[in-house]
Amino acid sequence: MIVMKFGGTSVEDATAIERVAEIVRSRAAEDPVVVVSALAGVTDQLLAAGQAAASGDRDRALERAQVLRQRHLCTASELLPSAPFGKVKPALESSFDLLQELLTGVATLRELSPRSTDCLLSFGELVSSDIVSAALAARGLAGERVDARECLITDASHTKAAPLFDETRARLEARVRPLVERHSIPVMGGFIGATLDGIPTTIGRGGSDYSASIVGAAMEAERIEIWTDVPGMMTTDPNLCSEARLIQEISFEEAAELASFGAKVLHPATLLPAIEKNIPVYVLNSRDPAGAGTCIRAHVPRNHYPVRAIAAKRNSTIVNVAGERGEIPRGFLREVLAVFDRHECQVDIVASSQVRISLAVESGSVAPELLADLERLAEVSCEPRQAIVSVVGENLRGRQGIAASVFGSVAAAGVNVRMISQGASEITINFVIQEEDVPAAVRRLHSDLFADAKAEEDWRWLPSGVRLPQPAPATDTDESNEVNAHGPEI
Ligand code: ADP
Ligand code: ASP
Ligand code: MG
Repeated sequence: MIVMKFGGTSVEDATAIERVAEIVRSRAAEDPVVVVSALAGVTDQLLAAGQAAASGDRDRALERAQVLRQRHLCTASELLPSAPFGKVKPALESSFDLLQELLTGVATLRELSPRSTDCLLSFGELVSSDIVSAALAARGLAGERVDARECLITDASHTKAAPLFDETRARLEARVRPLVERHSIPVMGGFIGATLDGIPTTIGRGGSDYSASIVGAAMEAERIEIWTDVPGMMTTDPNLCSEARLIQEISFEEAAELASFGAKVLHPATLLPAIEKNIPVYVLNSRDPAGAGTCIRAHVPRNHYPVRAIAAKRNSTIVNVAGERGEIPRGFLREVLAVFDRHECQVDIVASSQVRISLAVESGSVAPELLADLERLAEVSCEPRQAIVSVVGENLRGRQGIAASVFGSVAAAGVNVRMISQGASEITINFVIQEEDVPAAVRRLHSDLFADAKAEEDWRWLPSGVRLPQPAPATDTDESNEVNAHGPEI
């Protein structure tokens, strides 16, 4: 069997869902399990409705829910002949009735807890899986809706719940495996799950990719396909840099680094279950199903480009913690990290000097309580609106001159670097810049690192004309250590 995940833009309207049905048909013989996101924009709209309700604006919240009801009913009626529409309509209506009840409750209490947020957001994927399964069935494909809340079992950390893998595997074996064995096509919502007590949870924004990979690993799929709105994983975000090119093959390690450092095309945790079971993951374009896409697997041949890709993670804050009396006492770093850990704030980069420690973290995770705890230890200051840029590639291992090249490019773009980290992962150079500098830095880096002519002779990708000795030719497992033909793919 295989897992096919379709993101929000791939199921945004009736035309997109028609395309999904044809893509699923093309793989029907491989026993697909389909995982779908909410229709594009719906999760944000549900959140906005919840926030309106929590602020006491019940009418606006219910209006928003009504707009969503209409959009889903219209999409379903465009996709389905009248008999199957008549079957799915009551399910949709009853979901939206429940949603309106929930919003009314939130407006009464003026409280939107993480637990209610999860219940609210779960509607997006519940109704999209209703519609997609019915659309498949109406096209002669044996689509069967599966309630993800009965299969993906998590802990109770609402809005960022962690899967309970053993229980999830058992549920999938009990509920999904029998459908696959009789060649039905299970369709389930991504992103959502439930606790052992059946309370709805979500596994973090963008989490449908992760759901697909959890299902793929638990059911030992032959491959996991992530269908999205770009040709595959690209050398950088194509929405940031029009010269971004498709990467045909990339290693698990490289892709996982990119996903953790801002390549939104994959949820950061997506590759972990796939790596554990060594299942290849493909990123494919639902608007161009014949396209090659990107294959992510354990080992891929190197090419002559110095890096595989560049990612940028915005919404970062640098937290500076200064030691008292102008120095850092022994054990101080441990104490500081323990505070971040206690507040479940993930630290992306750490730099320390004689007098202070700087930590780059996600802005959303810098809670006032965390800062208050740090202030008990030392003087604290924050620099918001920062971004982490990551340059990633197996070719960085031991590569002489690469740091000079990267920082030469950034300097040439007129961008100041605030923090640097290299070596923690041998395949990544990370640095922090102001958020507003991201486009200039990434475009310049991309044009310096991926110019075809520059790949041919190693020294030529140095931006400032600096010539360094040629590195020794690669002698490892390289079977095809050759420059790819010029063109849009590398
Ligand atoms: P979906 O709704 O299908 O899950 P997302 O919006 O979550 O899609 O992810 C796709 C988006 O990821 C693209 O539109 C693109 O802007 C962004 N992206 C960021 N970095 C990359 C990259 N290296 N390669 C491809 N897309 C990227
Ligand atoms: N619908 C969810 C979100 O927008 C999950 C996903 O699309 O992956 O975050
Ligand atoms: Mg996504």
